[in-house]
Amino acid sequence: MRKTILVTGASRGIGRATAVAAGALGWSVGVNYAGNRAAAEAAVDAVAAAGGQAVALAGDVAIEDDVIAMFDGMRALGPLDGVVVNAGIVAPALPLAEMSVERMRRIFDVNLFGAYLCAREAARRLSVSRGGRGGAIVFVSSIAATLGAPNEYVDYAGAKGAIDTLTRGLAKELGPEGVRVNAVRPGVIDTEIHASGGRPDRAAQIGATAPLGRAGTAEEVAEAILWLLGDAASYVSGAILDVGGGR
Ligand code: NAP
Repeated sequence: MRKTILVTGASRGIGRATAVAAGALGWSVGVNYAGNRAAAEAAVDAVAAAGGQAVALAGDVAIEDDVIAMFDGMRALGPLDGVVVNAGIVAPALPLAEMSVERMRRIFDVNLFGAYLCAREAARRLSVSRGGRGGAIVFVSSIAATLGAPNEYVDYAGAKGAIDTLTRGLAKELGPEGVRVNAVRPGVIDTEIHASGGRPDRAAQIGATAPLGRAGTAEEVAEAILWLLGDAASYVSGAILDVGGGR
């Protein structure tokens, strides 16, 4: 069945690959982005070229009004079936003792509070008892939640650990509402996030140490997200799927 989904942080990386893969299934996609409008518009075009339709939806996931407006913007595409809570950031590698409070607040605001805000809005809009038609939520967590990311970003890793806990709890809360809730935990994936943390070569370097001997691609993570969103996973809820090349 064709679906209408919102993907947060879909202008680049894993979110963009997910949006384009959904487009190839003929789905309609809300492409959320924070500030990179040109990249979001290019992603919208790529979804259309793949066979779907899309709209670009600006908004910072850490700001409640932005999140509500982004979900309201989905009405242009039709009733909502699924949400991919993907937007996330890292910061330069540092031990905890060196981290500023501003850095830690922003990491938790976007990766954790932003995910909770988007999940709350998804729960409000998808739940059958609130007028929704059920559906699926997929969180994009990280293998960092299990490894801890010492001397790099224990703040980010902790935020992702909380996402795993949210996945378990919300799956139980929303099952009776017709909403499945799952997560993927990517390992090192070749996207621009590593450059934004000051290490553009990180995917190649750390990827080579994975049992599969390389970094993953955004498209490989998108495959797992699409499966969890789709009808083939109709009895899967509360699952956390590692997409980490064996890490
Ligand atoms: P990316 O290539 O850096 O892309 C980040 C995306 O998130 C962009 O579309 C960006 O929008 C958007 N974004 C950033 N801050 C936002 C905010 N406050 N509100 C809304 N959108 C925001 O990142 P990625 O590697 O694809 O990562 C996607 C997710 O996968 C993240 O949750 C990340 O933690 C997780 N992950 C990644 C890896 C990896 O190795 N790449 C591994 C494990 C988990 P703009 O274009 O407008 O900036």
